[in-house]
Amino acid sequence: MSARAPGKLFVTGAYAVLDGHPAVVLAVDRYVTARVVEYEHASTRPEVVAVARRLDADVPAIDASPLEERGRKLGLGSSAAAAVAAAGAILAFRGEDLDDASVRRQVLDIALAAHRDVQPRGSGADVAAAALGGAVIVRKSGEGLDASPVTLPPRLCWHALALSRSMRTSDALDALATRSSEREVARALAAIAEAAHAGEDALQRGSAEEFVAAGAAHVRALASLGQTLDRPLAPPELDRARQVLGLRPIAEGAADVVLLPSGAGGGDVVLWLATRAPSDDELVALAKAGLEPLRLSLSSRGVHRADAGDAERKEMARTSRIPGFFKLSVEARRRAIAESADLNMHELDAAISHGGLDVSTSDKTIENVIGVYALPFATTLNVRINGHDVIAPMVVEEPSVVAAASNAARIVREGGGFTAEADEPIVAAQVQLLEVHDVEDAHRAIEAARAEILAKADAAVPGLVARGGGARDLRARTLGGPEDQMMVVDVFVDCRDAMGANLVNSVAEAIGGRLAELAHARVGFRILSNLCDRRCVRVRCRVPFEALATDDMSGAQVARGMEEGSRFAELDSYRATTHNKGIMNGVDAVVMATGNDWRAVEAGAHAFAARDGRYKPLATWRREQNHLVGSLELPLALGIVGGTLRIHPAARLALKMTGARTAMELAMLAACVGLSSNLAALRAMASDGIQRGHMGLHARSVASAAGATGDLVEKVAKRICELGDVTVDGARRALAAELDLPPTSTTVLAE
Ligand code: NAD
Repeated sequence: MSARAPGKLFVTGAYAVLDGHPAVVLAVDRYVTARVVEYEHASTRPEVVAVARRLDADVPAIDASPLEERGRKLGLGSSAAAAVAAAGAILAFRGEDLDDASVRRQVLDIALAAHRDVQPRGSGADVAAAALGGAVIVRKSGEGLDASPVTLPPRLCWHALALSRSMRTSDALDALATRSSEREVARALAAIAEAAHAGEDALQRGSAEEFVAAGAAHVRALASLGQTLDRPLAPPELDRARQVLGLRPIAEGAADVVLLPSGAGGGDVVLWLATRAPSDDELVALAKAGLEPLRLSLSSRGVHRADAGDAERKEMARTSRIPGFFKLSVEARRRAIAESADLNMHELDAAISHGGLDVSTSDKTIENVIGVYALPFATTLNVRINGHDVIAPMVVEEPSVVAAASNAARIVREGGGFTAEADEPIVAAQVQLLEVHDVEDAHRAIEAARAEILAKADAAVPGLVARGGGARDLRARTLGGPEDQMMVVDVFVDCRDAMGANLVNSVAEAIGGRLAELAHARVGFRILSNLCDRRCVRVRCRVPFEALATDDMSGAQVARGMEEGSRFAELDSYRATTHNKGIMNGVDAVVMATGNDWRAVEAGAHAFAARDGRYKPLATWRREQNHLVGSLELPLALGIVGGTLRIHPAARLALKMTGARTAMELAMLAACVGLSSNLAALRAMASDGIQRGHMGLHARSVASAAGATGDLVEKVAKRICELGDVTVDGARRALAAELDLPPTSTTVLAE
């Protein structure tokens, strides 16, 4: 049984609604789905747990991914929609009809109360939009909330635009909490309230022009509140966009086009509010100014039953937790993965049985081919990222990497799994300029031609631009001293779902000549930079101490040792190198499995680790209130299109297994496996030492090298571990003993 609830956008009345003034909120057609399911998939979101508690029901599963874009929340009110969808799913499960308006009101009351349990500061306007749908005027009344649907004037045009980066508003809310009585702050708040009333009146009169004017007044009031609090609430992109569009600054009075930050300001979505739609040229200019079009429409439906479509059902059924997986035969493991990741068994068999690549394809891929070289293909289980289970394909030759990462991911799961976010997929094209006689003049000329260069860069990659990518920014730097006469121009290209090396190289080559002309210089190298520090991934986990305990040590003791290990790496580059190698064990295995360029990833990661001039750990660990918190940040240029994926069926299958829909999602997965590997290594070193677990697994390859086959591999491995003699000679002796042969004869078996 599933229910869906829409996300929301605030138009007017943010802040003011908290003091009893009206707010206008729109429900939008991106939905959170809640499903009443078995315990394994239960959501850990506090507002959903609170709904279930209030209804004395099991906690439903939640899919809020449609409210995210490229791994980043859009600020469409996912927690309000999750609470509403959860209450809707539970009531529908109990036989209530969500098409009945009184049931939707009941859902609103429950979700509102549960939402306040966990977010007492919220206005509840987002909950009302999610429950009722459409455009809603909301105002607080005592402890309750009045919410009335309203029709938008037909001439009113609104379009959503996404800021290409996140802005935080919690600082502003905190500052406001302490300064609301100050005269300037109170004046700005009164202006917001006045705009809120004007917005309500305009809608009730059905006047689009008046509503746009109320929007303009709201933006002005928000900007002055931001100035008073010394925290920008209207992002600088808005002024920049008005400038490129040739619109008067909003501070100068009435405007026929308003760019309005939705919500408390600074948020991720900006509304175009006018009595006309933006033209194509205006949309392109807005995107250049950092405001990208976001496909959103008004959702006339509030919470409603969603009998899951096939795709949705499959997404929710995906589990990365398959207990006892390692004990299964290879064939049974394939079946389990095929089932969980919704893969076809024939496709899976065909792609990975023999390495997935034949000699003739290899011959067309690189030069001087004489054969194909295979490596083991495995899966890391238990990975949960931002509330979703993900199966991680791994290609790696080192024993214990996969077991360690799976085990660590299971430990992280006990703390709710990983949270992850990824930057936009930006990679720099570098153009070296030589014999620059007048560096300052060159800087000026290049800066003045910024728009021309970016357009030229876009023209070099039309396919990428058509898919929403392209040149975003440009930076010129002087290198060395006057005697070097050298500059570099970095052009930052959004590569969307490609790794981007070839694309970016094409850009560098296309713009090199023109840059040299502008700088009166000679063009040198034109190539991408693999230090893509604008394309970073950040992942985090919070593990309860108990989950870290071993047979001999308490979780608190292990956590302390791990934090000490982290500090060791932070203070010593020799240790940091090995610390990072452990992280790359996990990252590289996913990168290789999905056909990505691991040399590029390695080069970028280590350069990033040394960016302050000293080589440092990419991940660090700290104890926080009975939890160990790990954070990892590294640049990751991965692709889900192009490159090796064109030719390698196993890489394509690996990618399908992950379910990644964007390059950013794949990068988040690789980073989470990297943090798992790091956790496993640090935990082992803080407790039993690395060799105990490692040797147990290494023993199996030693046993194979000594000639053991079939069941004998496990028997011999066990024996040499017990004897503490994990060497090929030791294994030969153990094998001879198993086979009842003289010790020397097994040498022959091994060769
Ligand atoms: P690519 O040459 O295959 O280009 C990607 C293609 O996919 C483009 O034609 C693009 O238009 C198309 N595409 C389709 N859908 C797309 C989407 N949603 N988003 C983006 N593009 C989309 O591959 P690439 O990513 O430009 O380059 C990767 C390859 O380059 C790797 O094989 C890498 O090993 C190699 N390489 C690396 C370096 C380096 O890292 N220094 C240098 C040279 C080459």
